Amino acid sequence: MTQLISSLPTVLPIMHDVSQQTYPASALYVLATPIGNIGDITLRALHLLSLADAVACEDTRNTAHLLARYGLSKNLIAAHQHNEREVADKLIARLQAGERIALVSDAGTPAISDPGARIVDAVRAAGFRVLPLPGASAAVAALSAGGLVNDRFYFAGFLPAKAKQRDTVLLGLRTMTATLVFYEAPHRITETVEALARAFEPARQIVFARELTKLFEEIHRCPLAGAAAWLAADGNRQRGEFVILLEGVPAAAEADDVEADRILAILLAECSVRQAAALAAQITGQKKNALYERALRMKEQ
Ligand code: SAM
Repeated sequence: MTQLISSLPTVLPIMHDVSQQTYPASALYVLATPIGNIGDITLRALHLLSLADAVACEDTRNTAHLLARYGLSKNLIAAHQHNEREVADKLIARLQAGERIALVSDAGTPAISDPGARIVDAVRAAGFRVLPLPGASAAVAALSAGGLVNDRFYFAGFLPAKAKQRDTVLLGLRTMTATLVFYEAPHRITETVEALARAFEPARQIVFARELTKLFEEIHRCPLAGAAAWLAADGNRQRGEFVILLEGVPAAAEADDVEADRILAILLAECSVRQAAALAAQITGQKKNALYERALRMKEQ
């Protein structure tokens, strides 16, 4: 297996160019690994991994296995969400000694719903260079193939596990026009979709991007109203890793909301939430209940 990396410069002429580029010492390289398909790693990432003095990783067994697939064996340092601060000190000492260190997570891009940000913060604060080696990330893969036409997206990541906190987060997202991006695990997918169906309009488009780049990859798009039924129709659909995309509020609706907020703000200065909602409903033609909820939120803020 070790031949893979060492033979790359001759097998792939571009690899020669990649290996001639500058990879400064005393630097931390934040390196993206595949989200499923072993082939989804960049040439630069492979080269840096072959050069690195050590690899800081979430799970040493996973990373040892991944590196072995590329014919590499490296000094591994466990860097997970419970020890990021302490491990940062160790990494800084090694950077001071002139090492090149790669930082990886179990899959995809470190610091994206994964450990890494605290280490990067500490290493930068200590005055060392931090260089990204970009590559796979499930959110971007889902957005690129999901087909929701929108220039903007909002990465919400994992929703809170507790229903009340989750519903509060969803309430805060209801008026966003950007495509909403969620990560979800299989054991919570049904509950999350039910919560989305309660919080958002049934006509919004939802995209399930499941097991991206893997054998059972599936990308399914439907109105939110039909999402729970689609999931329930086949047990396999609740398996694996998910990115969920949810269509944002259409821009015209956002303009209506801005106007409703303006009117509510004036009315709330003079009347109760109930009266303000009733009057705003007469002025704007919007539903009283929805305006009541908005007014309540404004009052709380
Ligand atoms: N750092 C990773 C990234 O850049 O995407 C995310 C890590 S986070 C701990 C794991 C979550 O990412 C999964 O629960 C799932 O929501 C999403 N994910 C990761 N790989 C995926 C895949 N192949 N297909 C769909 N979703 C995936």
